[in-house]
Amino acid sequence: MRRGADQKVSQMNTPDQTLVTQDRIQALLAATPKGLLIDGAWRESSDGATFEVENPATQEVIAKMSSATSDDARAAMDAAADAQESWARTPSRERAEILRRAFDLVQDRAEELALLMTLEMGKPLAQSRGEVAYGGEFLRWFSEEAVRDYGRYAATPEGNLRMLVTRKPVGPCLLITPWNFPLAMATRKVAPALAAGCTMILKPAALTPLTAHYFAQIMLDAGLPDGVLNVVSTSSASAISEPIMGDRRLRKVSFTGSTPVGKHLMKMAAENVLRTSMELGGNGPLIVFEDADLDKAVAGAMAAKMRNMGEACTAANRLLVHESVAEDFTARLAEKMSALRLGSGVEDGVDVGPLIDAKARDSMEALVADAVAGGARVVTGGKRTEGAGYFFEPTVLRNIAPDARVLREEIFGPVAPVITFRDEAEAVALANDTEYGLASYVFTEDISRGLRIGDRIEFGLMGLNVGVISNAAAPFGGVKQSGLGREGGAEGIAEYTSTQYIGVENPWSAV
Ligand code: NAD
Repeated sequence: MRRGADQKVSQMNTPDQTLVTQDRIQALLAATPKGLLIDGAWRESSDGATFEVENPATQEVIAKMSSATSDDARAAMDAAADAQESWARTPSRERAEILRRAFDLVQDRAEELALLMTLEMGKPLAQSRGEVAYGGEFLRWFSEEAVRDYGRYAATPEGNLRMLVTRKPVGPCLLITPWNFPLAMATRKVAPALAAGCTMILKPAALTPLTAHYFAQIMLDAGLPDGVLNVVSTSSASAISEPIMGDRRLRKVSFTGSTPVGKHLMKMAAENVLRTSMELGGNGPLIVFEDADLDKAVAGAMAAKMRNMGEACTAANRLLVHESVAEDFTARLAEKMSALRLGSGVEDGVDVGPLIDAKARDSMEALVADAVAGGARVVTGGKRTEGAGYFFEPTVLRNIAPDARVLREEIFGPVAPVITFRDEAEAVALANDTEYGLASYVFTEDISRGLRIGDRIEFGLMGLNVGVISNAAAPFGGVKQSGLGREGGAEGIAEYTSTQYIGVENPWSAV
């Protein structure tokens, strides 16, 4: 199934059809900033320490990054705090125009961003281009939202006061992002924070910092003033988070990542009573009713399961299929899964890239082994592939015991467990039987039933007859242990503002 290592790399879909050559890769890696961005300048870490970034398709080291220390974190905090007042006072139109210029630059440099993302994260180029389009949209959306920050002026019911209600930037923020969507998870935080008038310190994931560094340079090129956006990549996350979160000048932490790390950060945030936004893990159900259009359901399941090789918080983790259509659905799904081509994401025709690291690949093996030990049948896939890179075959499992780990845990890989239900009540009970509550998907041709499930399902997001629902204009976020707060939409900017009320003397009191 895997393509040969000597395969010619992709012909890119740019108007000039630029080939992804080794020269082009080397030039792009050389041009990407590898230092820390503090107060408008890229610099080395205070102790000169570095960490390496690997291409998960080849296991080659592709970059050495400066690794921020606690001193660097304090310098970044100083820069963000110093820049806060003037950035908050910058007219929102000016902030909007910087965001809009950044959006245009992301379009101009889309192929570079996509290639960097594929090199450090592994997803096929077509999917990286999709992320550039999605991630860029947050810049455009929040450039439009920046100037729509409405307040109100009203009389109290008693007539004794006038109420002046405005929204102010919350203040300097710490933004922490995961490795799976290296651009979109950064723009989804940076853009609303900038639009609201906040300064920030961004800490990208150490596995995939290059895309975020390239994006930060785009923000500088778009005219962002010094100190507004600071970037501190590091191999020691706590060396950054402890000094910054302990600093009284910090006002907010916005985190996307795993639930255990999110809980740890929430405890730290409590000390300083910080505002928090938490976009955490998921265990998404995808429900296929007996009246579903099975072509649509299989296509939706493929998209919801295999986008990003399954390494998405929105991934369909459990496929719940009505018993009358389960065999047909499983056979069709397995056929599509086994036809997918694995390989390095820069090669032509590749559908599935490597997982992010050896730990992720080994975790797929362990989940499949646990399910099989409990009686599950491997319909297709189930194994790692030989050779370099952390590849795991697209896998479909059936006859899974209810206590199998693959049903209880976030899989974060290309493994699709199919289980059955008898009626709507059982489908809802199974779907909600998890501590998570991020994304869910429902396939039925009965729209009333679909909306009724929407009422009953304990998830922040639901796709009705679609497998991909992320959009910059939509409020994205979870309930239960999937997190707090929303990113995108009108809600996304509100997360970075605090409401102030000024009680004004009744102008008629002296009359
Ligand atoms: P992770 O929790 O291991 O790491 C996320 C980020 O937190 C990284 O930058 C990491 O370096 C940093 N981090 C870890 N410990 C820290 C500490 N003590 N202080 C400060 N920062 C710390 O998650 P991951 O493996 O990078 O990402 C995968 C997880 O992210 C999955 O659970 C996935 O569901 C979740 N995710 C959620 C969303 C969402 O919107 N809800 C989106 C994407 C990913």
